[in-house]
Parts: sequence; structure tokens; C-alpha cells
Amino acid sequence: MGIVVQKFGGSSVASPEHIKNVAQRIIETKEQGNQVITVVSAMGDSTDDLLALANAITKNPPHREMDMLLATGEQVSISLLSMAIKERGYNVVSLTGAQAGIYTDDIHKKAKITRIDNDRLQKELDSGKIIIVAGFQGKTEAGEITTLGRGGSDTTAVAIATAVGAEVCEIYTDVDGVYTTDPRIVSNARKLDSISYDEMLELASLGALVLQTRAVEYTKKHNVRICVRSSFNHNKGTIVEEASLMKKTRLVSGVAHDLDVAKVTIYGVPDIPGIAQRVFKSLAEAAINVDMIVQSNPKGDRNDISFTVGLDDRNRAMELMEDLKIKLGAEGVTLRDNLAKISIVGAGMQSNAGVAANMFEALAEADINIELITTSEIKISCLVELDQSKKAVQVIHDKFRLGDED
Ligand code: ADP
Ligand code: ASP
Ligand code: MG
Repeated sequence: MGIVVQKFGGSSVASPEHIKNVAQRIIETKEQGNQVITVVSAMGDSTDDLLALANAITKNPPHREMDMLLATGEQVSISLLSMAIKERGYNVVSLTGAQAGIYTDDIHKKAKITRIDNDRLQKELDSGKIIIVAGFQGKTEAGEITTLGRGGSDTTAVAIATAVGAEVCEIYTDVDGVYTTDPRIVSNARKLDSISYDEMLELASLGALVLQTRAVEYTKKHNVRICVRSSFNHNKGTIVEEASLMKKTRLVSGVAHDLDVAKVTIYGVPDIPGIAQRVFKSLAEAAINVDMIVQSNPKGDRNDISFTVGLDDRNRAMELMEDLKIKLGAEGVTLRDNLAKISIVGAGMQSNAGVAANMFEALAEADINIELITTSEIKISCLVELDQSKKAVQVIHDKFRLGDED
């Protein structure tokens, strides 16, 4: 008898009917002779509703209190789901993250799991119970409640699967698996049977919501077998696995888009050594993650430095740059936040120079201007105007014929 960890996202538990449907799926897995641990997210958009409540009280909610608030969302769904399973006559227990022994660091709102003490989980499994764990939350060694960042229930599931040595970690969501791009944007997006850890990591970090980036990092590190599938049907889903296990490596496997992007430019900075270091050190000290960076060619003895940050960090980044403008004698600072980052990902692209050219050609043919470009071995990202982002995803997807069968 193996242990199966199943995670159900917010859309899968959005209503009492949905919750009863999930209870049925869990019972099916139990009836197949498995021990089952289920991780569950907050119902529907309730995490967004909680965030809005906090913002109606204050523009600057203390991070500790925010975690206290956000963690309640998952507590609602674990209790209701457990009731639905109990109603069907099965032995079940709901556990908060803390009760499940999930320990994190103390970075509120984006805490990292540091360890799992699985005594309680093991005890409940041994007694034959189905376990329902609240995703997205844990506790610090000092006993404070933390949350793991948006989409963090995926990471809870993978971490628990590792801790209990589960055979498989199934991520149930509202689409049939991982697609060549967001199937809600591109109607001919194609479901992938499998995807490598590295490609999934890039797609997730470039904005594909379907798995949280940290969950994929965890999966890769601990070699967990993940299957992403729909909670609304019994279709096969997508396996996330080592590249060596996959049938073939694709040139380009997917297109991702990220709307959480703001571009800051500090222009007319003196073209002398040490300037970039001062700009990025000040951002690092404020714990602001910087993504894309470009420095323009010098004009006379001055040049411009542009970089992108998440929308949450844009105001703080602007304050820091305004401050540096004075210290460095720069000419000005500008902010653009009506942008989107469109990326292509593929393990096969590292040895193929034509891939970048094709991506830029697709954008040019659609008359879409590129604001910034960055590349790595297995990805190319372009910043474009927000209102052209859907079109950009579509034309790039078409250019690489990602909707066609392999
Ligand atoms: P859950 O609530 O189950 O965690 P999410 O909303 O976090 O679900 O993630 C699922 C969503 O991810 C899908 O509805 C889809 O719109 C989006 N998505 C973005 N990129 C992809 C992709 N490449 N493949 C599948 N889904 C994607
Ligand atoms: N409820 C949390 C969120 O909306 C965690 C999750 O869904 O994974 O981000
Ligand atoms: Mg999610």
C-alpha cells in the first residue's frame, strides 16, 4: 500500500458541490488501497478576498498579521472537506500546517519550508485516516503562523510528499495538465504528456501559474514524481520528471507570460565604474528581486540603466532610485507598469541560434514592439506593452507551431 499525496487548488474547492466532488476523488484513491494525504487551498478566490479586506483597513498591513489572516482561508476548506469525507463514512482528520509539522523560516508572506516533522502525519496514517492538510501555511520554530507566497499550496504538497516518501504527488487543478501555453489565452494550446524539471521551473518562474516555482525547485531537488491533472475529469495529466526520462527534447516547449512586471529606468547616470553596483546594491539591501537588466550605450559620458521588478516592489524601487538620482547626479527616473513579459522556454534551444530570430520575427510581423530582451540557455524573454501581451503569446505559439502534435 503506497502513500499518495493529492493537492486540490482553489478552483477545485470553490463551492460545497466542488468540495463534495473532491471528497469523492479522495475516497476513490483510498478505495484503491492507498494511504492518502490531501493538501487543499482556500476556496475559489477567497485569498484575494482576504487581501482586499486587509487593504480596506490599511495600505500597509503588517506582514505577521497578514499571515494570520491569509492562513484562515485554507482552514475553511480543510474543515469542510473533512466534513464531506466523514459524511461518506470515512475516517478523516484535518490538520493546519502547524499541526502537520510544517516548519518555515520567519519571512512572513513568503516563508520557506525548512523542515517537516512528520510524527503526527505518520501517526494519523498508521491509524488508517485520510489526512487533509491546509496548504500554503506553516509555523516558525517560535510558533508564529507563516504563509508560503501565492500559489504556495503546491509547495506544501511536494514537501509533504517528500517527507512521507509518497509514490506520487498529484496536483489537481482546473486544466488538464501543463500546456504549451496558458490554455485560457491560446485555444490551440496543447497538453504536454511530460515536461522536464528544468523546463517546468522556467515556465513557472516566467509566469505559468499552474505550479508554484518553489514547488518545482523542491521537486527537482528531491526527485518527487509530480502529476498535474484536472479535478474535473479523469484525463491523464502531465508528468514532471527528469529530462533523461522524457521521450524527446523539444526545441521550444512552451510560452509563458507574466503580468507582474514594472520597468524602472534611471537615466543620464555618469558612465564610470561602480554605478551599476550602487544601483543594484541598494535594491538588494531592500530585498527587492530584480529580473531583467539592460544598460544602454553611453551618450557622451552618460548612459541609462533599466531593470524590472514585481509590481509590489515598484514604489519602493522608485523611492530608492529617486534617492540615488540625487547621490549619483543622474538626470531622472521613470516607471512603466503597463507591461508584460513574454517568454519562450525549451531545453533544445541552447544549440539553436535561429530560435531567437523566429521569436522576434513573430513579434515584428504582428507589429509588436519589444522593450527589453533577456536570454538564458533555455529561455528568451521579451518585454512588451500589456495590451499586446495576449496577441504576443498567440503569435509566438503559432510561429513555433506548438499546437501541432509532436
Ligand atoms: P489552482 O487554484 O488549482 O492552484 P492556478 O490558477 O494556480 O490553479 O493554476 C492553474 C491555471 O494556470 C490555469 O487555469 C491556467 O490558466 C494557468 N496556466 C498558465 N500557464 C499554463 C500552462 N502552461 N499550462 C497550464 N495552465 C497554465
Ligand atoms: N490560497 C493561496 C493563494 O491563493 C495558496 C494557493 O492557492 O496555493 O495563493
Ligand atoms: Mg495555484
